[in-house]
Amino acid sequence: MIDLHMHTSFSDGNSSLEEMLVAAERKKLRYISITDHYSIGAYEKLKDSNIRKLFSGIIIPGAEWGFNNGGDFSSELLAYGIDVDSIERLSWGEPDPYPCNANRDRRHLLGRGTLEEVSGRIHKVGGLVFVAHPFIVRDWFDYACKKKLIDGVEVFYADQTREATDKLKEYCVKNGLLMSGGCDAHSIHGIGEKPVSKLDIGNWIDNVRTV
Ligand SMILES: [Zn+2]
Ligand SMILES: [Zn+2]
Repeated sequence: MIDLHMHTSFSDGNSSLEEMLVAAERKKLRYISITDHYSIGAYEKLKDSNIRKLFSGIIIPGAEWGFNNGGDFSSELLAYGIDVDSIERLSWGEPDPYPCNANRDRRHLLGRGTLEEVSGRIHKVGGLVFVAHPFIVRDWFDYACKKKLIDGVEVFYADQTREATDKLKEYCVKNGLLMSGGCDAHSIHGIGEKPVSKLDIGNWIDNVRTV
């Protein structure tokens, strides 16, 4: 099973990276992505093989960060398959509105910007851009699709109605967007609570960078 959205103590999660990996293993997840807010600190730590081996499945390097184009045209994005060693090309400008990251190593923090800027940065380091937990089809989706600023939508989200999921799914199918799913766990307790499968989201996860 798959859970592509979770936070560790590298952002506002309550559990350490190690605890999250052990929990993911216990839940028998096969694909995960750690998606800390504006931070890839977890991926620096995952270079330690003693930590990486805590989880036997596939880890897709990811992060969650926001954009703001003014008015209602703002949201959070999930990036998957980013090259974490190209962080210098991702890190720019004001790093982070999250107070939880105030004392972090700035080298691990990602910048803010407009959708065009953030999407451009993600694409430049080989990542895919997904809209995080939109719940409904937003007005700006059509523009983002036309300009190829988004590659997919987090269609499956733990805290969402079936009807909402179906509407988002329909939009993705119609517009050729990929689908993702995650529980947005902020501790070991939420992880893998409502996992998805490849039948739900498709095979794109087998064609992205892993760590
Ligand atoms: Zn979020
Ligand atoms: Zn999140």
